[in-house]
Amino acid sequence: MNREQLAENLALVQARMAAAAQRAGRDPSEVTLVAVSKTHPAEAIQMAYDLGVRDFGESRVEEALPKMAAVHAWLAQRLDAQPITWHLIGHLQSRKVAAAVGPFHLIHSVDRVKLARKLAQLGEARAQAQAILLEINLSGEASKFGFRPEEVGPLVDEIAARPLLIVRGLMTIAPIVEDPGQARPIFQRLRSMAAALAQRHPQLNWSQLSMGMTDDFEAAIEEGATLVRIGRAIFGERKA
Ligand SMILES: *Cc1c(COP(=O)(O)O)cnc(C)c1O
Repeated sequence: MNREQLAENLALVQARMAAAAQRAGRDPSEVTLVAVSKTHPAEAIQMAYDLGVRDFGESRVEEALPKMAAVHAWLAQRLDAQPITWHLIGHLQSRKVAAAVGPFHLIHSVDRVKLARKLAQLGEARAQAQAILLEINLSGEASKFGFRPEEVGPLVDEIAARPLLIVRGLMTIAPIVEDPGQARPIFQRLRSMAAALAQRHPQLNWSQLSMGMTDDFEAAIEEGATLVRIGRAIFGERKA
C-alpha cells in the first residue's frame, strides 16, 4: 500500500465514522479508531502514524511484538514523537499471556475466567496494572470466543478484588451477515449489557464499547461504539 492510497482510505474511514456519530447525535471525538495492522508490516504502521493514527490493533502477540519494537525504534529517532496506544484484539493463548501483559495498553479479548485470573496474577507478580475489556459472545456461535452474557456477573466480584486488573468495558465481534444492519441488535445488546453492569457494579469502569469492524463499523457507532477496530478499509486486504 502506498502512502497516497493509505491517506485516501483513512480519510474516507474517518469521514464515515464522523457521519455515523453525527447521525446518532454523538460527538465524533467519542469514538476512537483502532487501526488493525495485523499481517501488515511495521512500515504500514509508520505510514499510518504519519497520517495521525495513534491507536493500533494486533491479533497475535508473536507477530505484534517485533513490529511494535521496530515502530518504537523508529519513533525514538523523532523529537516530536507522540505515544502510541497498542491494542491486543485477538484470542490470547494462556502460554502467551506473560508476553502480552505490559506491552499492550488494552487487551480487548479477555474471553475466559482462566485468562482473567492469569492476567491478574501476572500483574500482581510484576506490580503492573493491565487494562482489559471482557469479550462477549452475543451471537451464540460456537466458533466464537467470549463469555456468554450470563457468565459475566459471577466474574465481576473477582475482578473487583484484583485492583491491578482494570476493566474498562466490553468487546464483541458481530457475526458476518449480508447486510451490516443485521449486526445492529448485537451492538445494541452489548451496549445495554454495559449499562446494566455499570448500574450493578458502579465501582468498575464500563465506559468502553469495542465493536464494529470494516463491514459494520457505522452501525456500531450509531449504537454506541467507543472503539472501532478497522483493518481492511484502511490497509487493504490481508495477505494471510
Ligand atoms: C481482524 C480483526 C478486526 C479487523 O477486521 P477488518 O474486517 O479487517 O476491519 C477487528 N477485530 C478483530 C477481533 C479482528 O480479529
